[in-house]
Amino acid sequence: MPEQTVAFIGLGNMGGPMAANLVKAGYSVTGFDPAETARATAVENGITPAGSAPDAVGAADIVFTMLPSAPYVMEVWQDIVPAARPGTLIADCSTIDVATARDIHALAEANGLRSVDAPVSGGVGGAKSGSLTFMLGGAEEAMAAVEPLLAAMGRKTVRCGTAGAGQAAKICNNMILGVSMIAVSEAFVLAEKLGLSHEAFFDIASTSSGQCWSLTTYCPVPGLVPTSPANNDYRPGAPASMLVKDLRLSQAEATRANAATPLGAHATQLYEAFASAGHADEDFSAIVRYLRTLSADGQSNP
Ligand code: NAD
Repeated sequence: MPEQTVAFIGLGNMGGPMAANLVKAGYSVTGFDPAETARATAVENGITPAGSAPDAVGAADIVFTMLPSAPYVMEVWQDIVPAARPGTLIADCSTIDVATARDIHALAEANGLRSVDAPVSGGVGGAKSGSLTFMLGGAEEAMAAVEPLLAAMGRKTVRCGTAGAGQAAKICNNMILGVSMIAVSEAFVLAEKLGLSHEAFFDIASTSSGQCWSLTTYCPVPGLVPTSPANNDYRPGAPASMLVKDLRLSQAEATRANAATPLGAHATQLYEAFASAGHADEDFSAIVRYLRTLSADGQSNP
């Protein structure tokens, strides 16, 4: 049995199953989430509920946070850092901007704590099956200390660099995701217009130069790939609102770093338009339906 005790703050769609996998691996996990449903599911999965985030971390050796966005992360870290024992390691797995990630590392260090940024790829399916990829930023010693616990929740861990490097990798990766999902969806819409069957186009593109994750693992057209949310009317999945958040992060970082990302910028605009047209809660691969609507409206190149 592992001896380290764990606190998990934020037990939602991702944090809930991640904490449950730590319990399955034998860790003693105390958790906090203000949402009643999240707390109830966590208790069913063997997590000890705490009355507040600071209460959860007081006795922990390692703390994970998995929260919606940067303002939540900053607020929670400001609450939990003073409540943690010296030497405690805090890992933030949320997707947030690089500057906030560096700020929370500094906050932890100023209070004698160790920290890593550890955002994830793999979605809710990966969180449930324990097959996430973790992208780490921080001191080598802190990254090494957290890796055995990450092995209970994921299949791959990459040490990306110093504080904030994990978030940088996550943001760049998800910019590819936004662009590639639109590219695959556009190709299907054009193929339909040109009279190609979905099957014929998929058979070619999946074994040709168009091959990519958005096509062969998360295909936006139903019936071609067993793991696609498209097979279940695009629910549940990763909501378009979340990809909008990630794409906006990419554009904010691109502006700060003076990097030219014209396709990232256009993907952000398209996903913003798609989400605000009433599709924010649908899986992001449903953008294929939006492109069909634009085509029907005669907007061939919005
Ligand atoms: P979610 O909304 O399901 O979960 C977030 C949880 O945080 C909620 O249960 C909420 O009640 C809780 N919370 C809010 N304020 C809190 C507080 N003060 N203290 C404790 N808990 C609090 O979101 P999610 O899908 O689990 O995503 C979490 C993070 O993971 C986000 O940053 C997201 O971008 C990232 N992410 C999500 C996915 C995905 O597919 N869902 C994939 C990769 C990364």
